[in-house]
Amino acid sequence: MSLGDYDALYEQSREGGPFSNSDEGMAFMDAWCNRCVHDRPARQGNDAKGCPLVLLTLTDRTPAQFVDGRCTEFRDEDSGPGPEPQPVPDPPGQLLLLPRAPFEGVRMLSPLPEPDPLPAVLAAHRVTDGTP
Ligand code: SF4
Repeated sequence: MSLGDYDALYEQSREGGPFSNSDEGMAFMDAWCNRCVHDRPARQGNDAKGCPLVLLTLTDRTPAQFVDGRCTEFRDEDSGPGPEPQPVPDPPGQLLLLPRAPFEGVRMLSPLPEPDPLPAVLAAHRVTDGTP
């Protein structure tokens, strides 16, 4: 199972690291990457075949696959039979009208630009100042 092209993953990512410090990064690795099938080659000594998302974090980029402290590409290496990870199961109790695979993906949310505070400050000044 492959995560895809590193250059495409880079294009999806945004500038700036996902962790505020190394402790937070190590906690993320302990919680997810250290048991994920995508980084298993790195754990076995082959860093070049390790997870490209981990590489992105080391280059001060935040992968689009990192959402709220989780990685959407995490696949437990011990899940399911056989060496390949199993697909994400369908939500229990849900009826599926369409196949999920073509519609699965990630999106990178970015903050809205800050509104210009100057008009509000000027309006408040006019009220207190009494000028029209
Ligand atoms: S896919 Fe996500 S959880 Fe798995 S090793 Fe890569 S960054 Fe870590």
